[in-house]
Amino acid sequence: MDRTLEGRTALITGSTSGIGHGIALLMAQAGAKVMLNGFGKPGEIAAARASVGVAMGGGDAPYSDADVSKPDEVRAMVADAQKTLGSLDILVNNAGIQYVSPIEDFPDAKWDAIIAINMSSNFHAIKAALPGMRARNWGRIINVASAHGLAGSPFKSAYVAAKHGVVGMTKVVALEVATTPITCNAICPGFVRTPLAEAQVGPLAAKHGVSEDAALRDHLLVKQPSRRWIEVDEVGRMALWLCGPGSGGVNGAALSIDGGWMAA
Ligand code: NAD
Repeated sequence: MDRTLEGRTALITGSTSGIGHGIALLMAQAGAKVMLNGFGKPGEIAAARASVGVAMGGGDAPYSDADVSKPDEVRAMVADAQKTLGSLDILVNNAGIQYVSPIEDFPDAKWDAIIAINMSSNFHAIKAALPGMRARNWGRIINVASAHGLAGSPFKSAYVAAKHGVVGMTKVVALEVATTPITCNAICPGFVRTPLAEAQVGPLAAKHGVSEDAALRDHLLVKQPSRRWIEVDEVGRMALWLCGPGSGGVNGAALSIDGGWMAA
């Protein structure tokens, strides 16, 4: 792995699992000092910290237990990252949850939680991190949005609303930093093989009375023309590229990595 992020510092929300952990691992392998965040069983958090720590050269990776649905905790997490890492060059807003239900039955509390975690946390983290990036005259903000930031699907009202909001916020931040060496971009993955997406297969199989393999192929991945999962490592490499050499001209983009979903 090229050490393209040597000397850089990064905070990645929701990095105890899935895409966030994959991004953290690749950024650490590329030389960045990385702070993790997210929930999980103590053993899972310890394993995530240890694996990213090994990639950083030993010891456990720094970790914040902030609940990103709470603005105060987001601000404290950014301050902690700046203090612990010495600066904050790269902010990856990745924490997210999903809930699937027809809108008539969609619980209000789930709507509020998805808007807070998947969208508003990005606003609070960017607001807190940007002054330091401006002061050091370099920064990378990556919002992990979704194909559902660009297109709808039934039964995902809160998720689709939040992810469209993230894509819009990305454009605004990009315009506000456009004359500086800071960029803000959104990554829009299709279905990625992680616990969040895999959890949707069982209920689909039960609903349609088919096997999990058939539910995956014929129902979940039906919008993804490649008919295969996107892998965590593929999303991680896109995030890494956005922080590496030659990436400065890409700003305000919503970059699809979805097996052709947006082309259909
Ligand atoms: P995941 O469930 O594996 O990981 C989600 C992470 O967010 C975990 O570390 C979890 O602890 C953390 N998290 C959840 N609520 C939190 C909170 N309140 N405060 C702090 N951390 C919290 O899911 P994933 O698939 O890796 O998803 C990561 C991001 O990618 C999400 O924003 C998701 O919407 C997006 N995404 C996922 C897919 C997919 O198919 N997996 C596709 C497109 C976009």
